[in-house]
Amino acid sequence: MNENNDLDLRQFFDNETSTYTYLLFSRSTKEACLIDGVIEQTERDLAYIKELGLHLKYLIETHVHADHITSAGKMREITGAKIVYGSGANVPCAHISLSDGESLKIAGHEIKAIATPGHTSGCTSYYVAGRVFTGDALLIRGCGRTDFQQGSSELLYKSIREKLFLLPGETIVYPAHDYKGMTSSTIEEEKKWNPRAGGDKSLQEFIKIMDNLNLAKPKKIDVAVPANMKCGLID
Ligand code: FE
Repeated sequence: MNENNDLDLRQFFDNETSTYTYLLFSRSTKEACLIDGVIEQTERDLAYIKELGLHLKYLIETHVHADHITSAGKMREITGAKIVYGSGANVPCAHISLSDGESLKIAGHEIKAIATPGHTSGCTSYYVAGRVFTGDALLIRGCGRTDFQQGSSELLYKSIREKLFLLPGETIVYPAHDYKGMTSSTIEEEKKWNPRAGGDKSLQEFIKIMDNLNLAKPKKIDVAVPANMKCGLID
C-alpha cells in the first residue's frame, strides 16, 4: 500500500489547555501511536482507539509539558504501549529515549526524532511521511515561550531555522497547541509568515520578541512538571 494512503491521522483537542493530541495509525496493520495525550482525555482517546480497532504501540511526547499532565503513564498501564521521549527530556519513566536523527517504526513507516530544543531543553519534533509534529517548538504563526524549563531563545531560533525550516516546504506542521482555532500549517508558510522566526527575522529580533512577551506563569506548572517527570502517574 502507498505510504501516504496507509497512514491516517486524527487531531484531538483539549479545550481547557488548547492542547492538540494526535492519533497516527496504519490502516493496514492497525498499529497506532498517540502523540501528547492529556490525562483528562484518556477515556475519550481510549474509546476512539477501541472503535477503530487500533493497537497502540507508542505514546510519544514532544516535551515535558508545563500546562497539562500527560496521559502517557495511564495509557501505558491500560494498553501496554511504550512511552517515548526525546533523549534531552531526561524523563526516567520513558521506555524509549530518541536522540536527534533516531527513529521508530509503525507498520513500516519511519517516525524520525528531530531535537528542537529552546522552548524546553528536551523538546523533540517528530517527522513522519510528510508531516511534522512540532510540539511547542513551532506553532502556527508562533512558537513556544522560552522563559522556563531551561528555555533558550537562541536555541529555539536555531531549532526552528536550522532544523524545522530545512524540511520540505510542503511538510504539514502539526503543533501541540493553538489558541486561535487554527489546526495545521506548512513549513513553507511558516518560513514566510511566522511573525517571530520567519522571513528575514534575525536572532536579535527573535530574542527581543521573546523577552517582551510578558506571559503569565502557566496555572498548572508546579503540579504538571513534576507529574510529567513521572509520565503523569501521581497518586
Ligand atoms: Fe510546552
